[in-house]
Parts: sequence; C-alpha cells; structure tokens
Amino acid sequence: MAAVTVMDAAQAKLVTVGPVILLGAPGAGKGTQAKRIVERYGIPQISTGDILRDHVKRETELGKQAKAVMQGGGLVSDELVNAMVADRLSQPDCARGFVLDGFPRTAVQAAWLDGQLAGEAFARFQGLRSVPIVARMDVDYNQLIRRLTGRRSCPTCQRIYNVHFQPPRVDETCDLDGTQLITRNDDREEVIAERLKTYDAQTKPVSDYFANQGKVTVLDGDRPVDEVTAGLFALLDSQAGQA
Ligand code: AMP
Repeated sequence: MAAVTVMDAAQAKLVTVGPVILLGAPGAGKGTQAKRIVERYGIPQISTGDILRDHVKRETELGKQAKAVMQGGGLVSDELVNAMVADRLSQPDCARGFVLDGFPRTAVQAAWLDGQLAGEAFARFQGLRSVPIVARMDVDYNQLIRRLTGRRSCPTCQRIYNVHFQPPRVDETCDLDGTQLITRNDDREEVIAERLKTYDAQTKPVSDYFANQGKVTVLDGDRPVDEVTAGLFALLDSQAGQA
C-alpha cells in the first residue's frame, strides 16, 4: 500500500515534529533520510558522527579523544557523546523538533535521552513530544557492505554518492561543484566489519529499549530510497502537531 502524506510542503514547515530518532546499521540510509526530513520539515539534523568528525578535523580535545576509537570502528564514550548532544539540544533551532541520526547508539544513551526528554530543561520547547518517534531501517547485510564500500562524499557540499548505485557523472568528482570526492576513513573494509559488529552488540539493544515501550516503527530499508522517504514522511505527518 502506498504511504500517504497529509501535509503540503508549506504546512510541513509550520508543525512541531518529533523528536525523531532514526535507527539502523551503518549504511542503512539514516543520513540520507535525515537530510530529506530536514528539507521537508525545516528541523535540524543532529548527527553525532558528523559532529565528531568535525571535532576530529578541528583537532579539538574531544576530537583527539575520539579519533582512534572512530578509526577502529568502536564507539566513543557515552559520557562524551551525551554531553555533546546536551549542548546541541540546548540550541534554539531544536524548538520545533529535530532528527537524531546515529544517536542513541547504546542502551545507556537511550536511557539518558529519555530522561532529557522528560526533564525540565526540555519543557521549554513547548509542543514537542516527550515520547520520540522512533523509526528503524532494516537492510540486508550484504547490501550494507556494498553501500559502505561504495560510499563517497563531497567535502565541499557534503553530497553523498555511491559508486555502485548512484555514481557521479565524472569519476570521483562532485556533480555540483567539481570537488574531488572522498572516502570516509572508516568506510574501509576492515573497519566496516568492526562497525557492523559494534552495531549488533551495542546498538541493537537500543531498538529493544524503545520497542519495549512500544515505540519503534520498522521500515524496509532495502526498498528504493524514495519509498523509504515516503514511509517516513507518512509516519511523521501522522504524528506531527501544530506549532
Ligand atoms: P556515523 O557517522 O554515525 O557512522 O558515526 C561514525 C563514528 O562516530 C562511529 O563509528 C563511532 O565511532 C562514532 N559515533 C557516532 N555516533 C556515536 C554515538 N552516538 N556514540 C558513540 N560513538 C558514536
């Protein structure tokens, strides 16, 4: 059955939506779908991976602590990541909602987030739900490997390509600005295997955590990207409130 959206583009930018949590293995499409949600609803994407990569690039204290763990495919400590997210959530652009991509990634982070959403600090964002909308995208293991090994991104405009499924017009070059595309440091085969193991061990329990509260919508992430987007928009439209 086709997913149904109930709002037009202008209405979608006026409602409160979420918080939205996108769950799924590395390569499931969280970043791609989060960017589409940002575009439709005008709410920010909070990607802990992006924030951490930025810290590594700027060689901040946090970046120095995170770098080796990230390159090995493990997880940065809950304490550091929770503090980073707390700081991000305190910013005013989160007032109408936000989409979390790559967080929470452990049961400890999930419980911490639940506490934040129910807590006083969050009450200033009136109209936002204290119960998040949680969507999990499930993707076949071999498909994940192909997506991750083929992923390239543009360091200038952040657009994401895939050499197998969505190649640039000219090899290794961004269609939009001609910049040479890069492969993420942790998208190398030996690190990918570690990241997928980490997902199984530490992040699957996050889904169980929310499922135990009856809060997880599962989407078939093997379907074409536009169909997954349509499913997400229908879910978000049906649960959005007026700002
Ligand atoms: P991602 O871009 O979401 O695949 O994240 C890249 C890397 O950043 C992960 O493999 C982890 O090392 C680290 N990372 C991102 N988000 C988290 C998180 N919520 N908790 C711990 N580590 C994280």
